[in-house]
Amino acid sequence: MIILRFISYVIFGVILYYLLHFALRAFFVPRSRKREESEAEELVQDPQCQLYIPKRQAIKKRISGRDYYFCNQKCLKGFLERTHS
Ligand SMILES: [Zn+2]
Repeated sequence: MIILRFISYVIFGVILYYLLHFALRAFFVPRSRKREESEAEELVQDPQCQLYIPKRQAIKKRISGRDYYFCNQKCLKGFLERTHS
């Protein structure tokens, strides 16, 4: 009888562990994965230095109907000088 009770405790413990494990995964994994994907999508290339930068940090400039993204003001200036000469 003691062995049976022990086994039932072990089984209960395993079930509880899996329930917690999946519950935690369901709560945390999709959210963090979603955040990573959205950050990856927002990468833009600086046409001046060819560097990839997050869109949020980039300097956006509309030149002849097209949007360009630059890592800093120096690149923006350099690109403008390159395209307008
Ligand atoms: Zn740059």
